[in-house]
Amino acid sequence: MLHPPVDLAVIGAGTAGAAAAAFLAERGLKVVVLERRTLAAAGARWVNGVPRGVFRAAGVAVPTGDEDLGGPHPFHMIAPGGRVRIDDHDVIDVDMRALVARLQARAMAAGVTFLPGVAALGRDRDLLRTSGGPIRCRWIVDASGLGGAGLLPVPDVAPHHLCAAAQEIREVRDAAAARAYFDAHDVGPGEALVEVGVAGGFSVRNVRLFHGGATVGILTGSIPALGHPPGKVILDRFVAAQPWIGRRVYGGAGAIPLRRPHDRLADDQVALLGDAGCQVFPAHGSGIGAGMLAARLLADVVADGGSLRDYEVGWQRRHGGLHASFDVVRRWNQGTDAATLGRIMALGLIDAEVLRAGLDQAFPRIAPRSLPGKARALIGAPSLARGIATTLARGAAVRALYARYPAAAARVPAWSRRVDWVVGA
Ligand SMILES: Cc1cc2nc3c(=O)[nH]c(=O)nc-3n(C[C@H](O)[C@H](O)[C@H](O)COP(=O)(O)OP(=O)(O)OC[C@H]3O[C@@H](n4cnc5c(N)ncnc54)[C@H](O)[C@@H]3O)c2cc1C
Repeated sequence: MLHPPVDLAVIGAGTAGAAAAAFLAERGLKVVVLERRTLAAAGARWVNGVPRGVFRAAGVAVPTGDEDLGGPHPFHMIAPGGRVRIDDHDVIDVDMRALVARLQARAMAAGVTFLPGVAALGRDRDLLRTSGGPIRCRWIVDASGLGGAGLLPVPDVAPHHLCAAAQEIREVRDAAAARAYFDAHDVGPGEALVEVGVAGGFSVRNVRLFHGGATVGILTGSIPALGHPPGKVILDRFVAAQPWIGRRVYGGAGAIPLRRPHDRLADDQVALLGDAGCQVFPAHGSGIGAGMLAARLLADVVADGGSLRDYEVGWQRRHGGLHASFDVVRRWNQGTDAATLGRIMALGLIDAEVLRAGLDQAFPRIAPRSLPGKARALIGAPSLARGIATTLARGAAVRALYARYPAAAARVPAWSRRVDWVVGA
């Protein structure tokens, strides 16, 4: 049966899709969202760290109540031989089940129709083919997550650009033993104990007490294509080794695309949004903020009479350089072992101001007073200096390229080749 025509069909009711649907409908457009799962099972179902500033910039109220698991709390980043404490960052922990439900409810209140249990199958001119019948629409927003719905010809994300992550909230069955665990690492109650390099470069185990110590949140991630155990295995091994950790309350696992955003995010009819467009902050695989910001930009461009290509050009020029620069950093991190990371921290080359910017998903502003110390450390460690200097130079060069993302689609392939060359792909 043919669904009544709409301005936009959004594929996926996770954070990016639900936010876009809400923003578009609030700007007066007729929107339908199809979600292949139930609405209650859509999107992320675990706890994610998201900077508060992103909510404000996207026009989404900062989480409160049960949705907000607290923060910003001190963040202790630890590697063998080095550690850094970051106090004044902006990241809070969010129960994603509640945030996704809130965005869906906001979209419904703005008049969006949701079609749960309906999957996108393909497009045929202005018809979106779905498992529930065709939908006539002017535009399609593919917010269906990693891999996308296959409506735009974008490359597959290579395995060495995929982080296998897991996050669980578990009961604490022995509060004294839990306290002793954090005390042993000199980490206070409710603060984040973040060990990096636990399974090769770009791997992490982030442990924090929630609910006044009644539960513990564990986030793990790694790149299995480099021969390391996936995040879920790291998490399960940690739980097995810590008898104070009890029953799983909720959580999940999945793959996160870490590569820079796809070079093409739209054609005249289809736009990619969120993980489908690899709009994920590469330094730590965070896609919630980027997806909501992209949803805001897309809705504003379309509602103001622009095209999906205007969205593509606008996003790449405004946000692409940040993502691509941190993709360069992520590639370097991926090839750097835990001991080297610890040494870099101990030398002060990676310090609280650099890490704070990374957590907040922004470019670092290095205070001039810390430059001489960093320069001395680099001179004293020539083997590290070469890799770090190359990474910084590549990051700056790729940022400049994104500021000139081509307005003409025909020029994107040549631009892409230059970006590939600069990032060393
Ligand atoms: C364990 C883990 C921890 C993470 N931690 C963080 C973190 O701390 N901070 C952070 O910012 N990010 C984090 N991320 C990443 C973040 O969860 C994702 O970037 C984010 O969920 C992507 O949102 P999305 O809306 O683009 O896609 P998704 O959340 O994947 O939603 C896509 C939706 O589309 C639906 N769908 C798929 N195909 C179709 C189809 N053909 N038709 C209809 N519907 C379809 C899916 O069922 C799904 O509901 C983490 C990821 C994982 C796995």
